[in-house]
Order: sequence, then C-alpha cells, then structure tokens
Amino acid sequence: MTTATLPSPSGGGKSRRVVILGGGHAGVRCAQELLRRRRPADNLDVALVSRENSEVWHGLMPQILSGVLQPQHVLVPLREFLPGVRVYTYDIEEIDLNSRRVTLMRGDEGKQIVLEYDELVLALGSVTDLSRFRGLQEHGLQTKSIGDFVYLRNHLIDMLETAAVETDVEERRRLLTFFIAGAGFAGIEIASEANEFIRSALRFYPSINPAEVRVIEVDIVTRILPAFEQRMADRAMERMRKRGIDLRLGVGLSDATAGSVTLSNGERIPTRSIIVTVGVGTNPLLSTLPLTLVRGRVQCDEFCRVHGWPTVYAVGDNAAVPSPSGNPYPAMLLVAFAEGRQVARNILAQVRGEPLRPVQFKGFGEVALLSRGYGLAQVRGMRLHGWPAAVLSRGLFLTYMPTWQRRMALVLHWWSSAIFRRDISQLRMGRSDAIVPMRFNAGETIVRQGEIASRFYIITSGEVEVVQDVDGTEQRLRRLGPGRHFGELALLQNLKRTASVRALSDTTVLALARQDFSSLVGNMPELQEAVQRGPGGGLGPASGA
Ligand SMILES: Cc1cc2nc3c(=O)[nH]c(=O)nc-3n(C[C@H](O)[C@H](O)[C@H](O)COP(=O)(O)OP(=O)(O)OC[C@H]3O[C@@H](n4cnc5c(N)ncnc54)[C@H](O)[C@@H]3O)c2cc1C
Repeated sequence: MTTATLPSPSGGGKSRRVVILGGGHAGVRCAQELLRRRRPADNLDVALVSRENSEVWHGLMPQILSGVLQPQHVLVPLREFLPGVRVYTYDIEEIDLNSRRVTLMRGDEGKQIVLEYDELVLALGSVTDLSRFRGLQEHGLQTKSIGDFVYLRNHLIDMLETAAVETDVEERRRLLTFFIAGAGFAGIEIASEANEFIRSALRFYPSINPAEVRVIEVDIVTRILPAFEQRMADRAMERMRKRGIDLRLGVGLSDATAGSVTLSNGERIPTRSIIVTVGVGTNPLLSTLPLTLVRGRVQCDEFCRVHGWPTVYAVGDNAAVPSPSGNPYPAMLLVAFAEGRQVARNILAQVRGEPLRPVQFKGFGEVALLSRGYGLAQVRGMRLHGWPAAVLSRGLFLTYMPTWQRRMALVLHWWSSAIFRRDISQLRMGRSDAIVPMRFNAGETIVRQGEIASRFYIITSGEVEVVQDVDGTEQRLRRLGPGRHFGELALLQNLKRTASVRALSDTTVLALARQDFSSLVGNMPELQEAVQRGPGGGLGPASGA
C-alpha cells in the first residue's frame, strides 16, 4: 500500500494540506480560487480527488442527445486549468474524519493511496437513487454521467433502427414510445432534445410514420420550471406540446418493467425506453460518516463548515448551506460556484487568522435551453423566449467556461451543428467483455495482502500460490491451478485482502469486477455457497485471499 503524504513546498516549514474531494463545479472552483488567492506565506498544498480527470458540464449534456454537442465538448480536463494542484484521478474509497485520512483506489488491484489532510472539502455532488421506484433500477435509462448520455443517444438510435424493420404492430408501438420520468429542469431539457433528435432523424427512416412516434413525459408536480414565472413556464409547455411531447403533470410513475411503465393513475404504457430524470440520492461515501444530513445533504453553517468538524467543509450539491432566509441554497450550478469560491476564501482566512465570511449568492436569473434554436431566459427583468434566449443561454455557459480554448471549441461546434444535418451514427463504447482476461508472468503479484479488493479471479492456465504475511514472516497457504479461483473472501466479507496471490508460472485468469461478482452471488445463493466451499467442492477450494 502506498501512503502519499503531501510534501512541504520548497522553502521549508510544514505545509497546510487542503484536500478537495470531488472535481465537479464546486470542488474545481474551490481549487481555482485557492490557486488564485494563495500567497507563499500561506504555505498551502492543494490536492483534488475525482473519479474523472475533467470537470463535467452537466447543463450541456442534454445537447449530446441531439448530437448538437459531442461528449468532449462538455468536459474540461482539470490539468488544463489547475496547474499547481495535485490531481488524483482516483475513486475515493473511505473517509476517516477522526484520523483525517482519505483512502483512494483505482479499479486495478494494487493502486491504493492514503492522503492525510489538515482541511477537507467535501464536494462529492449527489448520486441517482432509484430504489424508491419499482423496476427503475433495472430498466431506467439514467441521465447523470457522460456515459449515461452517450448510452441514451445510442439507445434512441437503436429503437429507430429496430422499429424501421419491425413488422409486429405491438412491438413497433413499444419501440417507438419514448417515456421520460420527471419534468424538472433537466427533465424538460432532456425531453425536448430527445424529441427534436428523434423527429428530425425520421428522414433517414422512411418506413416509420412520424405519427407512430410518441414521446411521453410525466411528473407528479402540477407545474414545470417553478423558478420561472408562470407565463414563461406556460410558454415552454405550449411549445413542448406543439412539438409533439405528450406532457402529463400531476401523475407519477408507479412501476417499470422491461417492456412497459405503469402510472400512478393505473394507466399502462408499453415502451422500451424509460428515461429517468428523477431520484436524487446522497453520495454513499457521506451516508457512512458521522455527519448530520438535511434531506440527504451535509448540514453546514453559512461559512460551509460542517457541524461538529471544524476543519471539514462541504460545498455544492452535497452541502446544505443556509441562505439568509434560513433555507438551504438550491442544488444548482451557480450555487456550486459561489460555495466553492467562498470556501477557498474562508480556508485562507482561517490560515491567516482573519474572520470568515458567509456564502453570498445572488442569482442573476434563470435560463433554459430546450433545443438548438429555442430557449427561455428570465434575467435581470428581461423575459425572453425562442432564439434570443437560446443565444443568451449559450453566452452564459461560455462566460463560465474556464478556458478560451474550450469557449472557442464550443462556439465553433454550435455553429457547425447549425449548418450540418443531424448525424445518426452510433458511438458504441462499452468493452465487449464484462469478464476480463488477464495474464501474469511467473513471480508477479496478482493481489496483495492489505489492499481493498476489487476483483474475483478464476485461473484459466498456470499456477499461483496464496501467501500470508504473519508478523513479518511469509507463510504459504496453498497452491491453485486451472479451474480454481481466488479473491472471493475479501469481496464477500467486505474486508481488505487477507493474503497475497503470486503467479508461480506464467498464468492467465478471468477477472470479474466487484459489482458484477456481488450481483451474481447476491442473487444466486448456490453460487455463493460453491464459491465459499472448502477444498474439493464446487468451483474449487476457498482461496483465502
Ligand atoms: C443532466 C443535468 C443537467 C443539469 N442542468 C443544470 C442547469 O441547466 N443549470 C443548473 O444550475 N444546474 C444544472 N444541473 C445541476 C448542476 O450540474 C449541479 O448542481 C452541479 O453539477 C453541482 O456541482 P457539484 O460540484 O456539487 O457536484 P458534481 O458536479 O456532481 O461533482 C461531484 C464530483 O465528485 C466526484 N465523485 C463523487 N463520488 C466520488 C468518489 N467516490 N470517488 C471519486 N470522485 C467522486 C465526481 O466524479 C464529480 O467530479 C444539472 C444536472 C444534471 C445531472
């Protein structure tokens, strides 16, 4: 295991280590502001940890659906604009507030880092939690990550490709019905972009009659876009309906299956496309910590300090920071910006012995982009809709983009996509095998004692030995050959590896990722028993690793 302790900067003296968890809008703005305002005398060392190596611009993601933007246009690599920040593109595995340590891990075995901190900033955003909705976990098409949007676009094209040659009337109807759960801000933008894309792509599918396509969006709320004035929201609804979206309010989703959804009023809608924009949940890393959560967000004071932990701050979607009215600020982009920046200033104030200042967020208004040429804007007394609002909305995104290079790339792409036809090529990106073959040379260590387990292994050729370090002495536990397996113990019991496994000869294995292994054994008790059984049974002896 590697322990990375942030070193002192040249010039001597122990540096103050600030670790920011999360490379979204809030974490990135905090890091940027620290870089901008720190002085040599502050002796500050800044590290940022994020799963992705880029800042993801969620507000632009719906445009990936229609092909107006490509995935790389909504990503800005962190290293491009955070020089001087130690960036760890790692998964955060564990946060230990008492010992002020954070454990990071990559998907591969053997890459584990422990960071120690003086100040910690929690900027982990939210996750999608569909556990409240029956069937959505299994059949919902999620809309949170870049991967979700690329997958969803491919799926929409798949439905058109399949329907174009489908002769069964019922199945054709199912394939051409696109259902969207949730009519919040993102839901409205996603439904509009998907609808525009599907309908404009029909020119390539002459066998599909436009009247066959149904785009249905439902929400239990009785009005959309509450941040906008009623007449602006009415305009948006009117336009969506004119463009062919069947928008139903006051009705929710009660059940989803592989081929249909059932609404709260009992109506059953056959569909193969259940697009989900509902279900905001707490990042699982935070649920396990001794923190007070307010509706799933970490309770903070107006300076973003986490209650009970004076050197821990929270910002962005994972934080409940009270506004002057007493209610927490909403989970949105510009709030994340404001909180991220203010926390940086407060950390510096703390270091310099100056007073902290509360977050001050004065929204300048609201914008929404429903399609290439249609937006809504309610900014500083101005009420706009149609293309002027679309231009304004794009202008605002450009203002907040961190680099000129990215701004130019966006402008050029928006221009070119206005000129060229819609593109219906699919971008298949998934690895074709969920089970990954791996090979190791004789002497190489496959799993290491003490590390967090991430894979289950089945030996296909060669031989390995399982060894355990007991008080500094290595003990050989067993040798395993083809057909045998290892790595299950730590996965099943959620422990760190209790032994190491080393290749004795050139060895090939099949590796199954932790989540896939857990789903398999969680749903097949016989498999779990077989995997755990001792020597001679089932798939082979329990490995001890
Ligand atoms: C589709 C969509 C459209 C939206 N449109 C708008 C809009 O038009 N206007 C608006 O104001 N808001 C919009 N939002 C909301 C806005 O994007 C969020 O409020 C904002 O992103 C919050 O920033 P954040 O930094 O708190 O969280 P995020 O941007 O979610 O960042 C969280 C970071 O934490 C990292 N992370 C989490 N867990 C781990 C882990 N275990 N290990 C390593 N890293 C981890 C993630 O990789 C990510 O980098 C939209 C959101 C979505 C999903």
